[in-house]
Amino acid sequence: MIQLTDVNKWYGQFHVLKNINLQVKKGEKIVICGPSGSGKSTMIRCINSLEEHQKGQIIVGGTELTDDLKNIELVRKEVGMCFQHFNLFPHLTVLENCTLAPIWVKKMPKKEAEALAMKYLERVQITDQANKFPGQLSGGQQQRVAIARSLCMNPQVMLFDEPTSALDPEMVREVLDVMVELANEGMTMLCVTHEMGFARQVADRVIFMDQGEIIEENNPHDFFDNPKSDRTQLFLSQIL
Ligand code: ADP
Ligand code: MG
Repeated sequence: MIQLTDVNKWYGQFHVLKNINLQVKKGEKIVICGPSGSGKSTMIRCINSLEEHQKGQIIVGGTELTDDLKNIELVRKEVGMCFQHFNLFPHLTVLENCTLAPIWVKKMPKKEAEALAMKYLERVQITDQANKFPGQLSGGQQQRVAIARSLCMNPQVMLFDEPTSALDPEMVREVLDVMVELANEGMTMLCVTHEMGFARQVADRVIFMDQGEIIEENNPHDFFDNPKSDRTQLFLSQIL
C-alpha cells in the first residue's frame, strides 16, 4: 500500500529524512515514535504530498509521488490524514466539514454526502453535534469529527500525526477508542503517537525514528520489552 525507498529530504541545508525505507502492506498498522524533531511529521507529510522529497521513491497504492499534479490528487483521494490540531473549518458546521470534500472533490450529490457523513458521525458517536460549529465542541469531539471527515472520502490508508497530543487527558481515550475500532475493522494505518498502550494493542510494527533515520523497527512486544539500540532504550525510559 505504501512503499518508501531510500527517501531523502532536506529543508535547505538541513537533512531531515535520511534514507528512509518503509513498506506498509494493506491492513497493516504501524506506529511511529521518536523524539521531537526526529522527522516523524515530515515523513508522514511526504506520504500525503504535503511536503516534497528530493531523493528516493514514494509509492502509494501503486502511484508514484512525483511532481505530477494528477498523481498527487490521486494519492490524496486514497489517503486520509488526521493532525494534532484537528484542522476543521471553523466557519462550517460539523456536518458541512464532513460533506465538503465528498461534494467538491468526489462530486457527490449533497443528500448522498450528508447521509454518508451521518453514517461516519454515528461511528464516532457524535451525530447529536452535527449542526454545531467546531468551536462549540470539546477537543476530543473535534478530533473524532476530523476522523469522521477523513473517512467520508473512503480512504485506503489513514495517517495520524499525534492525534491525541493536544487533548486534555480525559479526552484521549475517546479518540484512541475510535482509532482502535478503525484498526480492528482492517484499515491500513500509519500513526505517529506516543500512546504506547495503543501501540501494544494494535500495532503490527513499531518504528523508532531519531535524527531523520529509522533506528529500529520491531513488533510491539520485542520493541518495548527488548529494545535493541541505546537510543531506543533511552527514549523509552523517558516516556514510559
Ligand atoms: P517531528 O514530527 O518528529 O517532531 P518534524 O518532522 O516536525 O519532526 O521536524 C523535523 C525537523 O525538521 C525539525 O528539526 C524541524 O525543526 C525541521 N523542520 C520541520 N519543518 C520545517 C520547515 N518547513 N522548514 C525547515 N525546517 C523544518
Ligand atoms: Mg511532529
